[in-house]
Amino acid sequence: MDKKIILTGDRPTGCLHLGHYVGSLKRRVELQNSGKYDEIYIMIADAQALTDNMENPEKVRQNIVEVALDYLACGLDPEKSTMFIQSQIPELCEMSFYYMNLVTVARLKRNPTVKTEIQMRNFEERIPVGFFTYPISQAADITAFKANIVPVGEDQAPMIEQTREIVHRFNHVYGETLVEPDIMLPDNQYCMRLLGLDGKAKMSKSLGNCIYLSDTAEDVKKKVMSMFTDPDHLRVEDPGKTEGNPVFIYLEAFSNDEHFSKYLPEYKNLEELKAHYERGGLGDVKVKKFLNNVLEETLKPIRERRTEFSKDIPSVYKMLEKGSIVARKKAQQTLSEMKNAMKINYFDDRSLIDEQIKRFQ
Ligand code: ATP
Ligand code: MG
Repeated sequence: MDKKIILTGDRPTGCLHLGHYVGSLKRRVELQNSGKYDEIYIMIADAQALTDNMENPEKVRQNIVEVALDYLACGLDPEKSTMFIQSQIPELCEMSFYYMNLVTVARLKRNPTVKTEIQMRNFEERIPVGFFTYPISQAADITAFKANIVPVGEDQAPMIEQTREIVHRFNHVYGETLVEPDIMLPDNQYCMRLLGLDGKAKMSKSLGNCIYLSDTAEDVKKKVMSMFTDPDHLRVEDPGKTEGNPVFIYLEAFSNDEHFSKYLPEYKNLEELKAHYERGGLGDVKVKKFLNNVLEETLKPIRERRTEFSKDIPSVYKMLEKGSIVARKKAQQTLSEMKNAMKINYFDDRSLIDEQIKRFQ
């Protein structure tokens, strides 16, 4: 039977936030602990982060340890998951170089996530080539590990699609070598692309609309209490909208019936709370206080573990170093198979030399 291999990762452009948690991290930890997967690779994508932060290497450098601490705090375990740093695996660049021949400029231009990101970053005509082509380098990240499962948020769907196309094309041209990955999205529709605190775009480090896993309890409370709700819900008696209302979207993503019996027993579940809000007579402050309690259930243990792990920073770097060595071995193996398939293995192909001997006889 084929091995079950997971690859996923995050850009070290900031600390990880609730969007990462529901979009991917929570799932990773569950998959890791299920014991059903043969290999799990978790990558800190520093090289990708540099594609739109080339002038700010210090930011990327500082955030590596922050992301690693977030991983450990959420329960990723180096005994079970290989956590590593992208730039330490030079084979990924080599793979990207060959994949570039398999993708057209027109195809890259169609990628909706890259389109949105280009707009967000106001690149206009000054798009770095590295940024424009990052879906190709992401295909290298996935295929280097022969990953067949990629647990990510919805914004990554076009990248996985692009990877599948590259794999298809590579295998078609050079012979069966690479593995086609499948995306694994969160089950809960609100978690696929968790909305930011501003209620406009997805929660994203680059937009600063986040609740971070490392925020203090006071910070979280402040952020929750100043969240947008329904702008027409001015007085408690007014009927309110729950659809598109970020506070309710977060409750959809995070709350369960137990939270109600623990913190808001006058309602059985979210449906009842929503019905009251829509009818009128339920104030935003009460809903926000409940949301804060719900979020703290997730965030408090993460925060506490993070503080513990941050007491031994050298171990965190050691863990990443070890992980990078393991990951590199795997990538080297795949690259060597690719080069064989592409017939650029001149020095370890005896049949090539025999063939040439004959030709020149
Ligand atoms: P940046 O702004 O630097 O791109 P980001 O906040 O978008 O940062 P990434 O490092 O690009 O975070 O994404 C890492 C992972 O987290 C990906 O799997 C992505 O799908 C997931 N993710 C990021 N933001 C969200 C979100 N708001 N909802 C669900 N998943 C998310
Ligand atoms: Mg992103």
